[in-house]
Amino acid sequence: MGTPRSFTAAEMRRYERHFILPEIGPAGQAKLARAKVLVVGVGGLGAAACQYLAAAGVGTVGLADGDTVDPSNLPRQVLYTEADAGRHKTEVAAARLRVQNPAVNVVTYDEFVTPSNVTRIVDGYDVVIDGTDRLDARYVLNDAAMQADIPLVHGSVMRFTGQVAVFAPGHGCYRCLYPQPPTDDLPTCADLGVISPLPGIVGAMQAIEAMKIVTGLEGTLLGRLLVIDARTWVTYSAKIDPRPDCPTCGGGTSPGLAQED
Ligand SMILES: [Zn+2]
Repeated sequence: MGTPRSFTAAEMRRYERHFILPEIGPAGQAKLARAKVLVVGVGGLGAAACQYLAAAGVGTVGLADGDTVDPSNLPRQVLYTEADAGRHKTEVAAARLRVQNPAVNVVTYDEFVTPSNVTRIVDGYDVVIDGTDRLDARYVLNDAAMQADIPLVHGSVMRFTGQVAVFAPGHGCYRCLYPQPPTDDLPTCADLGVISPLPGIVGAMQAIEAMKIVTGLEGTLLGRLLVIDARTWVTYSAKIDPRPDCPTCGGGTSPGLAQED
């Protein structure tokens, strides 16, 4: 990713706050422009993440979701409006992102990830953001990203609690945290509720992690799970113990990622 890239005057103006960041600068912005980031689930988490990724000049943003906009989404998914109710989320989101930043290549997959389509959808991406709200999709996406050796930025929200982590082979994955899906249906945000800005916060954090991975910054949440409590703003993070016997990520390595000390 070392090829120099020249920027137009308009690009230099647009991205000037990145250009003056020593951690990003023109070289980092060029890496963002070449990067392909897939957002799976364009709901509360993904709608926030994809907006920041596109606005910040990530070259290719993939959007995967089979859902349509429901009025109950609107308090959290502020990318959508009442007029969008019933329309496909990927279609609406893609149109908004293309207006937001016409330079970005937006690719849509109007489908839920399943074992039969997930390998095709994640293929070729540098980073995958998990914005799904269904447990079965989360395992499917985790397994596919680990098998393709693509770092996966996990996010989840419930009530006032949010979680963010970065999974990669050798550093732990979702199955290292929760080896098997529970046999009983777990309650979802639809059952238990969520404070509406929280998915936006967690989705923005996922966008930051994706940008740190793409630009090679240290200090990512690789192998760590960050938990935030929006009632108190107490946050804590814990190291994820990769399970040597993990059927998905055990024994692998991911040399492209910055390691923690
Ligand atoms: Zn694992």
